[in-house]
Amino acid sequence: VGRDKAEYMTSLFRSVLGFPKEGINFRDFMPVLEDAKGLQILLEGLEKALPVPADSFDSVAGLEARGFLFGPALAARLGKGFIAVRKAGKLPPPVIGEDYTLEYGQARVEVESDAVSSGERVLIVDDLIATGGTAKAATDLIRKCGGTIAGFSFVMQLEGLDGIDSLGPYPTSTLVSMP
Ligand code: AMP
Repeated sequence: VGRDKAEYMTSLFRSVLGFPKEGINFRDFMPVLEDAKGLQILLEGLEKALPVPADSFDSVAGLEARGFLFGPALAARLGKGFIAVRKAGKLPPPVIGEDYTLEYGQARVEVESDAVSSGERVLIVDDLIATGGTAKAATDLIRKCGGTIAGFSFVMQLEGLDGIDSLGPYPTSTLVSMP
């Protein structure tokens, strides 16, 4: 999108030390969405930085909750459908789920059982990748449904956590990188 626009969008991120718990520097992208110009740059940036050409995937999957805030808008710009990867218990049956391990305890992500068709090529999007655990769970879930992963688009990457490496050999793009 060009340096000026990228810097403008980056300047809108808000960092909150100690939220939601001690030791976490929370990177808040709500101010980017609230800003008319910021939101345009975000969507334009994701579209221009796609990790693979738009004609090499069929749909966009967003991770609850912040992947839902821009995933459908990006999908619409690209002429694709949107798949909601939700936390357990939110979607009505039938669903397909995948359990995964968090730093403390277990979690589960689900999609509606007909959300992904066999051989469907899916781009996974989320606001931020830290350890990569959430995106990995979504990857395993979409593959369990018979889909294939075309790549990942993240708005922000946290440095020094090897999150992207942990996902496997998939094309990935991130707009902003912060410690
Ligand atoms: P992870 O599974 O460790 O890659 O964590 C990614 C998920 O947790 C994403 O859905 C993020 O929205 C959220 N997350 C993790 N760390 C942060 C952070 N420092 N600031 C904001 N969100 C975060």
